[in-house]
Order: sequence, then structure tokens, then C-alpha cells
Amino acid sequence: MGLKKSKMLSLLFRKRRLIQIGSLIFLIVIPLLNLLNLEVVTGNYYSLRIWKIEFVDPLFALQHLLLTLKFNWQLLMGISIPLLIAFLGGKLFCSFICPYNLLAEWLQKILPAKKTNVFKVNAKRYWAVLIGWIILTVIAGFPILYFVSMPGQIGVFLGDLIFLKVMGVESLMILAVLGIDVVFLKRIWCRELCPVGALLQRFHWNYGLKINYNEIDCVCSTDEIDSPCVQRCPVYLNPKSDPLYPACFNCGECVKECYYYGEALKIKFIKDITNFEPNFKQRKEEQTINKEEA
Ligand code: SF4
Ligand code: SF4
Repeated sequence: MGLKKSKMLSLLFRKRRLIQIGSLIFLIVIPLLNLLNLEVVTGNYYSLRIWKIEFVDPLFALQHLLLTLKFNWQLLMGISIPLLIAFLGGKLFCSFICPYNLLAEWLQKILPAKKTNVFKVNAKRYWAVLIGWIILTVIAGFPILYFVSMPGQIGVFLGDLIFLKVMGVESLMILAVLGIDVVFLKRIWCRELCPVGALLQRFHWNYGLKINYNEIDCVCSTDEIDSPCVQRCPVYLNPKSDPLYPACFNCGECVKECYYYGEALKIKFIKDITNFEPNFKQRKEEQTINKEEA
């Protein structure tokens, strides 16, 4: 990857919290603008219109298709940008935009817990949960996916609060899921259960943006749980030895932490997520030895 590109990426990941806060404020600003009859931006994270550009949550569009059995071209056009981002970067929506994740990360700061004893994400189980949500919605003939979309529900909650001055029942559901998830279940919602993130991850390209671990550059504790990158991961993954995908949402926190140690973790466009090539210094030493032996 070119130096310019990697600098841009690292700047983007360093500004993640700012973007997350901006995306939450955006959800508050939209209904406020609409109250003033300014409709250049409308909607929420189910479906958002900025001027003439539509962004639609692919899960929302899928649910529409399943429940009506009709193609809606407007919805199909609206999912193209979210799907392109998911194709290149996986669940970047989760780590940069989703307000549920921001609230969960803030709550984790207030109630920090040591990252230990978390069962590993199993890819088959992960996809089975997504299929389960879809089957449940079809059998029920009811928009279950709408109600379990946390980013969408948070938008609806803020809209109700600003337009109608009422707190809908969704606020209780969001609080209950958030509290139980962070305090007792170690972010299992985002790691394994959320259908919004799972559907986006389904489109992640094999050569897309991924976390890459180079064991030879790692200078941290061999006790993996104590490693700073492992302690930093908001969704309790171990970037040193877990198969990170499909659970990892490419937030780059482990990479930022590793920057102060061996820089063994990098985020880049790559297919093979493990790379055991020696680092530059080591390669140099090997070349010198080879030259001396020749
Ligand atoms: S997995 Fe779901 S709740 Fe978690 S960050 Fe992604 S969209 Fe939000
Ligand atoms: S493994 Fe790294 S990039 Fe993935 S979610 Fe954890 S901290 Fe974020």
C-alpha cells in the first residue's frame, strides 16, 4: 500500500471517535432541521436522504423484499453506497457510524472490565444467527428486523423525542439491551447477534480492508490476554490469535494500541490475514549475514 494511502487510513482511524460523535449529533440535527422545515436531510439510519442521495440499510431493504415480495428500485439504489463501503471495508458502519456502538463503548469506559473468559466467535454460529433472524421474520410476517436494528431504533427514539416530545418503548429496549450487553454479556450483541452488522459483513470482499498480524514484530507479553491490543478491543476479540472475521468491525483500536509497541498489527487491503514475513530490520540483518557467508 502506498505511503499516502496508509497515512490517510491511519488519520481516518485516529479520528474515529470524532466521526462517531458526529454521527450521533447528525441524528439529533436531522429532526431539528425538519422541524424548521429544512428538508435537505431527512430520515435516520434505516433510510437517509441527503439532498437527492439515498442511503438505505441493506437489512431494511431485505426485510421489505421478504415481507412484500416486491422489488423497490429506490431501496435497491439506496443500498448501493452502503454495500460498496461494506465490500471494501467490512463493518465500517459499525465502528464509525452506529450510535449503539458509541454508547456501548462509552459505557465500557465507565464500567471497564478485563478482557478475559470470552468464548470465541464461531463463524458458522455467526451466520446461523443471521439466517435465524431472517427465517423468524418471514415466519412471523412481521418486521422483526426493524425492531432489532439498534442504529435504526436509536434514530427513531431521537426523532420521537424531538418531534413528539415522547420517549417511545424503543428507548426502554435500547437501554435494556445496552445495559445487559455491556455489563453481563461482554458485547455479545455486536460480536454475534446483530443482523445489521452481520448482513454488512456478508458483503466484505476477500481482499478488502482487514487487520493483519505479523507475529515476528510483536514485542508484547506472551500472555495474550494481557497484551495491550487484546485489552483494547471493544468487542473482546484477540487480534493476535482469534480468527477475527466475521466478528471484527475494523475499528482499528488494536492497531492504534500496537503503534506504541511493535507495530505488529496493521489494517490494510489484503486477502491473507496472517503474515509471517520478517520485519524490515530482521530482513536487513539476514541479508548482511547472507552476504558475509557468500
Ligand atoms: S453490530 Fe449492530 S449494533 Fe453493533 S455496531 Fe454494528 S450495527 Fe451497531
Ligand atoms: S480486533 Fe481490532 S479492529 Fe477488530 S474490533 Fe477488535 S480492536 Fe477493532
